[in-house]
Amino acid sequence: MPSAPCEQLRRQGYQFVTPGASAAVKPCLWCKRALCGGEMCYKHQFYGIESHRCIQMTPTLRCTQRCLFCWRSFEHEPAADEDCPPGLIVDRLIDLQKRALSGYKPSYRVTPDRFRDALSPKHVAISLAGEPTCYPHLAELVDLLHGRGYTTFLVSNGTRPWVLETVHPFQTYVSLSAPDRETYQKLCRPITDSWERVVESLGILGQRRSAIRITVVRGENDTRPDLFGRLIQESGARFVEVKGYMFLGYSRKRLKKENMPGHGEIQAFAGSLSGCSDYEIRDESPASRVVLLERMG
Ligand code: SF4
Repeated sequence: MPSAPCEQLRRQGYQFVTPGASAAVKPCLWCKRALCGGEMCYKHQFYGIESHRCIQMTPTLRCTQRCLFCWRSFEHEPAADEDCPPGLIVDRLIDLQKRALSGYKPSYRVTPDRFRDALSPKHVAISLAGEPTCYPHLAELVDLLHGRGYTTFLVSNGTRPWVLETVHPFQTYVSLSAPDRETYQKLCRPITDSWERVVESLGILGQRRSAIRITVVRGENDTRPDLFGRLIQESGARFVEVKGYMFLGYSRKRLKKENMPGHGEIQAFAGSLSGCSDYEIRDESPASRVVLLERMG
């Protein structure tokens, strides 16, 4: 039986793999926008990922943190759920994506080419909600996705480095939302103190194609770019995405609109990071308030 929280999420457009599991697919706003012939998200600009051919999914809604800036509701985290076998998740992905996009058909709004391409996705972003390393078969899931010809982006909060080490997505993201333990405790509210684990996860990134994502929340974590700079410098990650917090979803119950930085602040923060590390600014998307840095040398 679906749990009450999952039922609420279903009404918000989540497509669950099975009624008793929290593995789910939900197309993002950019996927729908691209389908209608509109702009694509910054991942297209930065990495060539076409938004309408990207499946946004999670193998679990469980999470190890309670970030103030998270747009999801923690009340929606299932107390107990079953873990779907990875083969079942992969088998159902296309059907779930199709179902999620079933309101879209070729029309004056939806170009036939984009509609056809959307039914044949090429990329899976494991980044919907929850912490994917809490799913016990993550490595196998990623390998199966690659076997079916998908490229994968995996976004982790870095609290379970021993799992991250075993998983080999096309691009690994670790979120770094604080420059020190004190800020981390206050902003990310981990269930158990995981600061050292996050730092350990950063250390894995130099061995693979990887990115660090920094969500800048004005007044919460925007004052010590020098400390952030030291952490990214030691990580060896190839990319750093500096992204402004967006006042969206359930985060509106925890933060204020004033916590949302403008794009100029993101540029300035990225500039400071660049000034104290080997990273240089490569690109930016003012619409998404994000600046991309890449490691030089
Ligand atoms: S780690 Fe991600 S999913 Fe978990 S609470 Fe933070 S933002 Fe939300």
